[in-house]
Amino acid sequence: MKYSRPRGTQDILPPDIHIWRYVEGVFEATFERYGYEPIRTPIFESTDVFLRSVGENTDIVSKEMYTFADRGGRSITLRPENTAAVIRAYLENGLHRKGGTTRLSYIGPMFRYDRPQAGRYRQFHQVGSEVIGSLNPIFDVETIDVVMTALEALGFDDLVVKLNSVGCAECRKPYTELLRTELERLRDRLCEDCDERAMKNPMRVFDCKRCVDVKGDLPPISEHLCEGCAKHFAQVKSYLEAIDRHFEMDPRLVRGLDYYTRTTFEIIHSGLGAQNALCGGGRYDDLVAQCGGPPTPAVGFSAGIERIISVLPEESTAVATSGSGVDFYLICLDEESSARALQAARVLRAFGRIEIDASMRSLKKQLRNAERRGAAVTLIVENELPDRIKWKDMTKREQFEVDDDRLLEFAEAKLAGKRVGDE
Ligand code: AMP
Repeated sequence: MKYSRPRGTQDILPPDIHIWRYVEGVFEATFERYGYEPIRTPIFESTDVFLRSVGENTDIVSKEMYTFADRGGRSITLRPENTAAVIRAYLENGLHRKGGTTRLSYIGPMFRYDRPQAGRYRQFHQVGSEVIGSLNPIFDVETIDVVMTALEALGFDDLVVKLNSVGCAECRKPYTELLRTELERLRDRLCEDCDERAMKNPMRVFDCKRCVDVKGDLPPISEHLCEGCAKHFAQVKSYLEAIDRHFEMDPRLVRGLDYYTRTTFEIIHSGLGAQNALCGGGRYDDLVAQCGGPPTPAVGFSAGIERIISVLPEESTAVATSGSGVDFYLICLDEESSARALQAARVLRAFGRIEIDASMRSLKKQLRNAERRGAAVTLIVENELPDRIKWKDMTKREQFEVDDDRLLEFAEAKLAGKRVGDE
């Protein structure tokens, strides 16, 4: 074998691809019911799109981006997340001029040069939504509700929503100072990276996987919110309660991206181990302005499809892969019958999924394959029967011959769940 896929990437093969499509389909259908419209942005963007928005001191920007110069010497980055790009597209295409709130959803690959491990890939896929244009806490709650509704439709019933508020620029200024003082006091317990973070962007210490013990001794932002943020957060909590969406407070949940303001949340699944977040999200009220647009508050989420699939309830996996085979498996036993096999397949495709086996292997081997493909009916075309086709019902285990010109009639009846001649 001469080539192998890059580390941290996956090939998605049948039958797993059916699980992927099922998960994506459930999210798409859920978005539709909430009034979200899909958007697709390029897989690569100018590096600047991510630098300030995600934040230069975040792990994503400082360590994980796939950044390169293209042949024209421009700095290009494979998107590590989609929110910044959606906002770039929102502004560039003048969607902000329509006014009101804009609801968008996306599904697609993202790229982060991270250490590959269970639940962590270098190319992974996110599904997410953004509501742009309103400060109303209704939309924070809708964001949590839309992703929870999709996850519940996928069969999850033991998820935990962790909730926090990281405040706004106003409450963060005094809080950051307080945090710096505390970090200075605990300096000898900080890792090298956090020692630097403490100065540049102290809230990032909460993301650190090494300084877990220190975090408990730091003052949580949610206890230092300004009046506006405290009121907003109280409303988010009361609206969540009003629609029976349970949550757990996590005062130290800050998320690994700088653009978050006010509400932040994660959805946790206990089966995931260390990388236990299926989804993360929150408000980002300053990002649109930071990208050069008018001040426009927004809120969104993003969930990892690989992680969702890795803990997908078995019933959903079964539903997703059932019926992924074919309806009719058409075995062609000799070369002389090839044209008839093609004609029969053409007729049958009006009714269902047909696969022709032209391997010319033994009948036994081809029948075994028909079973593997889940065929309801196997048809055998051979020279010895010049105007009839053998019809083998794989579930009822019965076999008879059908005239070539009655094939359509039989196929129609079979897929309607009837026998030919039945009422
Ligand atoms: P983030 O964009 O970092 O807020 O992450 C949102 C969600 O994307 C996480 O909860 C994960 O489910 C998923 N995710 C993030 N990074 C990775 C990765 N490297 N591999 C797989 N999934 C990821």
